[in-house]
Amino acid sequence: MRNVVIIGSGCAGLTAAIYAARANLKPLVIRGVEAGGQLTLTTLVENFPGFPKGVQGPELIELMHQQAKEFGTESMEGNVESVDLSKRPFVLLVGQEQIETQTLIIASGASAKLLGLESERKLLGHGVSTCATCDGYFFRGKEVAVVGGGDTAAEDALFLTHYATQVNVIHRRDQLRASKIMQDRLRRNEKIKFIWNSAVKEILDADKREVTGVKLKNVKTAEETLKPVDGVFIGIGHEPNTHLFKGQLEMDDLGYLLTREGSKTNIPGVFAAGDVKDRIYRQAITAAGSGCMAAMDAEKFLEAEH
Ligand code: NAP
Repeated sequence: MRNVVIIGSGCAGLTAAIYAARANLKPLVIRGVEAGGQLTLTTLVENFPGFPKGVQGPELIELMHQQAKEFGTESMEGNVESVDLSKRPFVLLVGQEQIETQTLIIASGASAKLLGLESERKLLGHGVSTCATCDGYFFRGKEVAVVGGGDTAAEDALFLTHYATQVNVIHRRDQLRASKIMQDRLRRNEKIKFIWNSAVKEILDADKREVTGVKLKNVKTAEETLKPVDGVFIGIGHEPNTHLFKGQLEMDDLGYLLTREGSKTNIPGVFAAGDVKDRIYRQAITAAGSGCMAAMDAEKFLEAEH
């Protein structure tokens, strides 16, 4: 029987682990399929306090992981397949293993969204990617497209200019959602071109199992055009990983977990932290802060029972 199990090993989960471990609760972190979370898919993080020159996302996560381990956190590879929150102890199934715990901290994050096109699904890993930092290298000397207008798309586009000859940012409106500083960097970069007011209707060529271009539709004029590119990076935001908790925990209309009084969910003993409960800020530092809150709330909850 565990005191605290933490689902997720991103910024929120690992911060929760550091706090819970220092409170002698011997937490178990279940790392999940996207171990390390969104920070492992990014490059330079310039806004995490304490790193005036910035820090690489994967390095920051590795440091947090080491710090959590230092204080006695146990980690487990694998993905939670089911969760029974109907009574305590809560029961989780990870692979063949059943785990019982007094409290649960959910820090399962949010995953990259897709456009939902059949051709996109078929070409994922064959020229279509949701991770510029993972796959950018494959597009040296090639022309690529990035879909989206937020910070993810902006960061991806900038990163891809290190490899690609031209990066076309395809956005469905004529204004970016990305932060001002990122917008300025995009506009200053000669390799970046914008294709405004455009929706991707199709990614070609699924039959050839390689990307040769995108079919675009101008959302204002309905005109359809073909833009030849060698790769397509989807940077349109994220979706909370909460399907396991449907019908058990309260969520908002987009599936983000609802919390009250800090990190409490509607079930006593179940807490949530990070992107899985945050549709607004979704920053590394806010995720870390909420991980800290969840661990402190779990500690108080356990203390009150003794
Ligand atoms: P986001 O801010 O929600 O932006 C998503 C973008 O994709 C928007 O421009 C949106 O268009 C577009 N989009 C969404 N669904 C689409 C669809 N089906 N088809 C075409 N376009 C679609 O998401 P994000 O960029 O992932 O950023 C999320 C949060 O993380 C933000 O708070 C951001 O500041 C933060 N973040 C920060 C950094 C950094 O500081 N370096 C890096 C990455 C992310 P509309 O604009 O028309 O809605």
